[in-house]
Amino acid sequence: MSSTSSPTSPLARSNSENTPPIDLLNYTWNEMEDLCISMEQPKYRVRQLFRWIYQELETDVMQMTDLPKAFRLRLQNEASVGTLRTESVAESADGTRKFLFRLHDDMLIETVLIPEEKRNTLCVSSQVGCALACKFCYTASLGPGRNLTLGEYIAQVLETARLLPEAERKITNVVFMGMGEPLINFDNLMKTLSVLMDHRGLHLGRRRLTVSTAGLCPQILKMGQQFPVRLAISLHATTDEQRDDLMPINQRYPLKTLFETLQKYCDLTPTHRLPITLEYTLIAGINDSKLDAQRLAKLARSIQAKVNLIPYNEHPGATYTRSSPKSIEQFRDVLLEKHIRATCRITRGDDIYAACGQLAIHGPSENPTSPSTAPKPAPPRTPHHRRRRN
Ligand code: SAH
Repeated sequence: MSSTSSPTSPLARSNSENTPPIDLLNYTWNEMEDLCISMEQPKYRVRQLFRWIYQELETDVMQMTDLPKAFRLRLQNEASVGTLRTESVAESADGTRKFLFRLHDDMLIETVLIPEEKRNTLCVSSQVGCALACKFCYTASLGPGRNLTLGEYIAQVLETARLLPEAERKITNVVFMGMGEPLINFDNLMKTLSVLMDHRGLHLGRRRLTVSTAGLCPQILKMGQQFPVRLAISLHATTDEQRDDLMPINQRYPLKTLFETLQKYCDLTPTHRLPITLEYTLIAGINDSKLDAQRLAKLARSIQAKVNLIPYNEHPGATYTRSSPKSIEQFRDVLLEKHIRATCRITRGDDIYAACGQLAIHGPSENPTSPSTAPKPAPPRTPHHRRRRN
């Protein structure tokens, strides 16, 4: 399923005569050192390349003026800084922007930029589609797709950063909460974290990076050993019976296994512990009772987790409905009474279907997982794609 190609065989990347074979975004620092050596350049060229790509956000290798001319010419022929084709940008009344990007194989992904006063948070996709089949999630209806490459992960960050006003041209936080399951795309996720955290690259601390997962236990631990970034768990249910039904992954990793794993994840960084977030989508009559809240409080306390309540976002064809504001409040009160830190996520961007679980809603004429239907030009989405909130 993975589409990563080996960085040591750049020519293997080319599947189109027009596409330069090497995407410079597909290389971690160490891999780019090897690439420079294979092109008969000193290792330190990687420092220059990283600066141009990640600090200057340059896409034209000929503009990388401190590289020797001959090397630039060679790069121009053999490589490029990967870019994504922006099919559309939808801007929400609250400033959230949803980008629909077309990949080289015509697949479509979505990336959401959430600007706030002091930070620019980017919600990135990990896969085209998703294999996990969570019952309440719209992305799941696309079915399994393919993993994004390192270059495609990174391009989401650079492409959106370039669109920010010059003075604030920096993505300050990245959350892996877009389409797909990041821990299924494990190897590329690890490489992406290494590039995002590299002080010579984007230099984002582990506190600024959040990986959200439906709960793939072995991968959670493996990630903690390599990059103990912030972890968010899509919990959504407090008994195995409920969770087996809503999220089939629970049949493989039931709650007991999941919480033992989460405890181990915390133990990996005892002195610099970042609290785990339990994400809990409130669905009317399914998981929003007082008893559910009490069980959730107990689970959260067992690992000192925070809880993030997400009002269920309805989408076309959804069989569930959002809990009423009163039940959400009562649910939260139970948690607070039990001294659990509980926030209720402000549902940003839902007027443009950029909210949780709504990614992949494009309108009737598009299907991002299907190249056979995707290549036709996407209908323009701004400004008529905009919908005002009541
Ligand atoms: N696969 C990863 C990353 C997706 S993050 C994961 O499961 O964590 C997207 C978050 O939105 C997850 O917590 C997901 O469970 C939640 N979500 C999915 N559909 C939703 C919906 N309709 N309303 C609210 N939240 C939803």
